[in-house]
Amino acid sequence: MALKLGITGRLLVWLSTFVLIFYGTILILFINIQQIVKITENIVSNNFEISSISKKMIENLLSMEENEKKYHLLKKDIYIQNFMAAQEEFTSNLNKILEITPSDSDASSEWREIDNSYRHYAFDPGKPGEDITIAEQWIPEKVINNWIDKISRTRTKNEERIEAATRELNRHGQKSARNGLVGLGLSGLIGLLGILFLSNSMVRPLKDLLKGIHSISKDQFNTPLRIRSQDEFGELARAFNEMATQLKEEEQMRSDFISMLSHEIRTPLTSIRESVNMLVEEVMGAINERQRKFLEIASMEIGRICNLLNHLMQVSRLESGSLQIQKRLIDTSSFVSGCIRHLSHVAEAKDISITVQIPPNVPNITGDPEHLQRVFLNLLDNAIKFSAQGSRIDVAVNLAKNRKDLIFSVTDSGPGIPKEEQVLIFNKYYQAKGTRDHVDGVGLGLNISNHIVKAHGGEIHVDSKVGKGSTFYFQLPATGGK
Ligand code: ADP
Repeated sequence: MALKLGITGRLLVWLSTFVLIFYGTILILFINIQQIVKITENIVSNNFEISSISKKMIENLLSMEENEKKYHLLKKDIYIQNFMAAQEEFTSNLNKILEITPSDSDASSEWREIDNSYRHYAFDPGKPGEDITIAEQWIPEKVINNWIDKISRTRTKNEERIEAATRELNRHGQKSARNGLVGLGLSGLIGLLGILFLSNSMVRPLKDLLKGIHSISKDQFNTPLRIRSQDEFGELARAFNEMATQLKEEEQMRSDFISMLSHEIRTPLTSIRESVNMLVEEVMGAINERQRKFLEIASMEIGRICNLLNHLMQVSRLESGSLQIQKRLIDTSSFVSGCIRHLSHVAEAKDISITVQIPPNVPNITGDPEHLQRVFLNLLDNAIKFSAQGSRIDVAVNLAKNRKDLIFSVTDSGPGIPKEEQVLIFNKYYQAKGTRDHVDGVGLGLNISNHIVKAHGGEIHVDSKVGKGSTFYFQLPATGGK
């Protein structure tokens, strides 16, 4: 499924999800803490207050009972006053409790019951002129004890409520801790997954692009990049594909043009060459030394152009896939020594020695001897071309690690090739910067060699250090048996 969101959109979605979960967690924690605060407030401002006031009320009742008894025994007015003071305090405490108890709670109905019963016995100052004796105001001991019992029971219930609220507090605390942990864990997970997803969605197309760029620089861009998303990376991949197709089309046009031109030039050039040769061989009559010298230079130059045209036509044939490979069994040792013999006079001219190392009982190879010879000669020719006068070239054949392939190598101690150019030298017309102006060549030999080796199921590569020299390898499947 193609992603419709751009990079900014995706970053925004990820960030919003992260922020949403993070702040959601904080909100839940805030709500939990508010509930805890409410319960705590209720305990502190209600239940603890009720507990302490009700304790005082019991003390008031006990004081009333005690003063009543003392008065009956000693008949002193002070006990009446004490009784009335305790009663007054009791009334005020009862009113306070009724005030702080929420009217719709169980506790409120319990206290109202005590209040109703108490009002029945409340001190009556009487009408003016009416003589009400204190004896009529005493509250029977039984009634006071009954109230003490009731208040004690209500106090116990209040304590039970405090305990229940404390348990509730504990539960809320645990819930908050759990919610906090889950929320933080979740936002951490979302953050991590988001980073992984985003980096993957950016790194993958970049890797594809890098692969595409490498394949273009290796002249092997055949499959367009996959457009995975509709974002900026998708646009980049599309633009890259367009550019690569355009490059390929232009390359094709150039190649067709060169191929056409080579064909057109080759026929008249062959006639010119033949004519020059006939002149040199004095078929048309005698020539003087000066004329011979110029005609020989002309013949050499025409030979060079013919060679170049052959190379160009070969490349176009290789590219169009019309290269005919006629495979035969090739004796490895004779193949190598034959190639070296072919170029020994060129090496001798530069006083270059060539060493050969071939293991005994080396297996044979199967391939087109003519084409494979072209590869070997090209590598050897380059080694001689780029080596200094009087140096040494080492040729070796070794069995590959997989013991199925043979590796042919040509090592020289020439100028070497910079690392960044080692891939490029296998491209058409590419010549390394350091050697471009010094030696003959058009940069086609390695490209042709690469095509030929690949057509044989092998591969070619170079190992080189600037200033130290180069080793060119080509690996071919061995056939086994001598
Ligand atoms: P040509 O030799 O005709 O220029 P090639 O395709 O054979 O073309 O080689 C391409 C380029 O690779 C050369 O121009 C040179 O820059 C580099 N090269 C090839 N062989 C060697 C070597 N043995 N030492 C240094 N550079 C080399």
